Amino acid sequence: MTAYYLTTPIFYVNAQPHLGHAYSTVVADAVCRYQRLLGKDVRFQTGTDEHGDKIVHAAEDAEVSVKEYVDKISAMFKAAWPPLAIVPDTFVRTTDPAHMAVVQGILQQVYDQGDIYFSEYTGLYCKGCEQFLTEKELVDGKCPDHLTEPAKISEQNYFFRMSKYQEWLIDHISKHPEFITPERYRNEVLSFLKEPLEDLCISRPTTRLTWGIPLPFDSRFVTYVWFDALINYLSGLDYPAGEDFARYWPVAEHVIAKDILKPHAIYWPTMLKAMGLEPYQRLHVHGYWNMNETKMSKSLGNVVRPGELVAEFGADSVRYFLLREMSFGLDAGFSKEALMARHNSDLTNDLGNLFSRSLTMVKNFAASVVPQPGMPSAQDQELAEAALAMLGQYREHLDHFAFHRALAAVWEVISRANKYIVSTQPWELVKDPQQAAQLSTVLYTLLETLRLITLTLHPIMPETAAKMAEALGVAGETSLTDCGVWGRLVPGRAITPGAQLFPRLQQEVKDKPQPQKNKTMKEPASEKTPSPEATPEAEGLISFDAFQNLELRVAEIVAAEKIAKSDRLLKLTVKAPEERTIVAGIAQHYQPEELVGRQVIIVANLKPAKLMGVASHGMVLAAKEGDRLVLSAVSGPVANGSRVA
Ligand SMILES: [Zn+2]
Repeated sequence: MTAYYLTTPIFYVNAQPHLGHAYSTVVADAVCRYQRLLGKDVRFQTGTDEHGDKIVHAAEDAEVSVKEYVDKISAMFKAAWPPLAIVPDTFVRTTDPAHMAVVQGILQQVYDQGDIYFSEYTGLYCKGCEQFLTEKELVDGKCPDHLTEPAKISEQNYFFRMSKYQEWLIDHISKHPEFITPERYRNEVLSFLKEPLEDLCISRPTTRLTWGIPLPFDSRFVTYVWFDALINYLSGLDYPAGEDFARYWPVAEHVIAKDILKPHAIYWPTMLKAMGLEPYQRLHVHGYWNMNETKMSKSLGNVVRPGELVAEFGADSVRYFLLREMSFGLDAGFSKEALMARHNSDLTNDLGNLFSRSLTMVKNFAASVVPQPGMPSAQDQELAEAALAMLGQYREHLDHFAFHRALAAVWEVISRANKYIVSTQPWELVKDPQQAAQLSTVLYTLLETLRLITLTLHPIMPETAAKMAEALGVAGETSLTDCGVWGRLVPGRAITPGAQLFPRLQQEVKDKPQPQKNKTMKEPASEKTPSPEATPEAEGLISFDAFQNLELRVAEIVAAEKIAKSDRLLKLTVKAPEERTIVAGIAQHYQPEELVGRQVIIVANLKPAKLMGVASHGMVLAAKEGDRLVLSAVSGPVANGSRVA
């Protein structure tokens, strides 16, 4: 059996679990479940990072001993995962004696071979980061993360000869395009490596800090946090002698957030090289969840606790949202409204309805057994082919951590299947005994499509997928390779309708008046009301003439790109039928590449306006629901430039 090893970062116990931690861990859990569906022998590791001065200070603030403090917070992390259906195989704590022994063994080895040396260091030290910063990293003389001025301190310390491995690292990254993904982070690291790499300070004098792993060769010092923390990825595998190490290290992959890119992309591979080990295979770097366009942080008081979300929405909804809403590698916005909207529309409406309609029809029209399909029509075949194609796309995207794309491919089939019900009209077929074979084929096609959809959902929404599999009579049939074929459902087998997948959640009444919802909203940033001709008259009604003044047309997006320095705006090139540029405030909802080829509805006779230096000729219509924007579309292909009236 092929092995697969994936880790989350070990989380620093100076704060309780928040949404960012939950995201890294949901991602890792989903990927591990996916790899298991592919038949791999998977090892999934997480844990807590428990040394360093920040933790000593946090314990002092909490007026408990440091040991009590780390035990308490570490336990909170451990307890945070089961409610999210996250099931790690190992949970490493850096205060575990076994981990500490591994760190000391490595330090001694690297010291003995001459890659650790003693020297004087003077530098700018940020207490928040627990590291020395270079002048270049400062913004206006301050640490960009903590917005405080670092202190100039000078002390004797031990250093790891990281610079010695710089050329090797550049070469390794260049030869292995997937070593750091997505590519933007690989580029960031390569660009950082253009400057000479400094050696890494790996110790703290015990006069300043005692809460750490003592250096085996000098008891006046403890290990500086990265040379301790990163080693968890090995100590969790019983390095150096353990069988697990031999089995899983050659296939190691890490998931991290972008704030710890440098330690993982530079310190860690050079440390491994110095130890004489192969580096990890892939480093997967994700962005931040923002609230109202600011980073989530304790000091800003806008921290979202995963436990609260699970209590309100259920584990599967939260997992689905996190994986669907963020495009892995980029930042994304979080709001409960957006989560609610996805829950109600994607889960309750699209998936929930497809499932319950299909099973209810099998119950009513086929006595709750899988019917024997007849000859498929072109329409039946089309859905079957789309469902099989979905599996391929899903795998391709999940292999590259493109969760939002994998899920978009699944939801595309869900939407097709819902339309298929409407167009095949099984409730009409059942009235005519002549159409019995056709009805059976339609129901069979729906059940098989649902079975394949279920297969893709096991890693994403384990509880929901288990419910669906149970109802379809395929519980436990989860192998993507064996079960990812058409026609596995055995006619005559019983199905069990009745399970409701998702409750519809009520939107709390906010200060926004209700009628605002689902109304077509204007785009982009311009907050002005429509042109004078369209000004609402008495009782909010406009005349037909006023409407006629608004020139709505179908346009095809032929190119889309981000606008530099704006995280909201995209520059679209559309054919309507003449080519024109439109700036749309949809960058947080659509990736440029998913827009090309779409037909949307535009306001064609809007006065041109300049946005971030780009002239916009018109406006793309989109529906707004909470914080979510969904582009307008026509229900079938029409000529570009067709008038909408
Ligand atoms: Zn800092």
